[in-house]
Amino acid sequence: MEQYNTLLYYCYSTIADAEQFAADHLKFCKELNLTGRIIVAEEGLNGTVSGSVGSCKIYMDTLHADPRFANIDFKVDEVDTPSFVKMHVRYKDEIVHSGLRDPNIINPQQKTGKHLEPKEFLELKNSEDVIILDVRSNYEHNLGKFKNAITLDIENFRDFPDKINELAQYKDKKIITYCTGGIKCEKASALLLHEGFTDVYQLHGGIIKYGKEAGGEDFEGKCYVFDNRLSVEVNTVNPVVISTCYNCGKTTEKMINCANPECNEHFTQCDECGTAMEGCCSDACKEHPRKRVYDGTGYYVKVPQPVNVKKPESRGKNQDLVS
Ligand SMILES: [Zn+2]
Ligand SMILES: [Zn+2]
Repeated sequence: MEQYNTLLYYCYSTIADAEQFAADHLKFCKELNLTGRIIVAEEGLNGTVSGSVGSCKIYMDTLHADPRFANIDFKVDEVDTPSFVKMHVRYKDEIVHSGLRDPNIINPQQKTGKHLEPKEFLELKNSEDVIILDVRSNYEHNLGKFKNAITLDIENFRDFPDKINELAQYKDKKIITYCTGGIKCEKASALLLHEGFTDVYQLHGGIIKYGKEAGGEDFEGKCYVFDNRLSVEVNTVNPVVISTCYNCGKTTEKMINCANPECNEHFTQCDECGTAMEGCCSDACKEHPRKRVYDGTGYYVKVPQPVNVKKPESRGKNQDLVS
């Protein structure tokens, strides 16, 4: 059986001609038969791509050969099938949407929290006076997070700046931020520094790298990922399940998307409720005329959605694309 890799990476590095770069890069990815999602902005690259081991190697080697991207730290997973169906390369204002666009205020290339390697994090995380801060959204930390981590009630990373005031009580502590792959922490920790926090660290490479290099100790639950796997295991040392079925409350770590395409909510649902609810989060969604067929996975290939349709009230839209 052919072996595939799924790569996760980001890079804050100035790309002068980002829009043209995005177009050229899409062509390059397609030539390699890769699938995935990449965001290109003047401030850098944020990507997750999947393909044959050979194609992924060429992809990494090619980026590393470009001085702008020589330092990219690729997180490489082995997978049985590609983790995406299509290849998208999009040009945007930011590589992760934070709403913090002014590079004079927040520029991770100039000032950001000190990077902690996974093993350094492992040693430091239980120290007194250390605050571990999860900068991810609700649907992510509901599925898994570090033991004793502070979480924020946010639907999207762009809401993070509004939560800074809630964190003021920790100004004198050592704060370590973490996210899935590290990209959000570059901005989150930079913003904390800008707001007067002084002792700010970030888990370099995020949960994913910590799982690979340090065994994932004390990460409880699973890590939400932005591809058709939906979640991955992190902790091989002391794993526990923390998430519960949205419908019945039973412990489960199965993450699905609601079968109603206009809802598409990310939530945890047990297999029994999945069957009973046909993969929907609510009775209202179950009655939706364009409801998709639930095949037990709860993952649906994106189809174009009608514009200007107001989505129903929900617990969290995943607009972050890649974390
Ligand atoms: Zn249930
Ligand atoms: Zn729904």
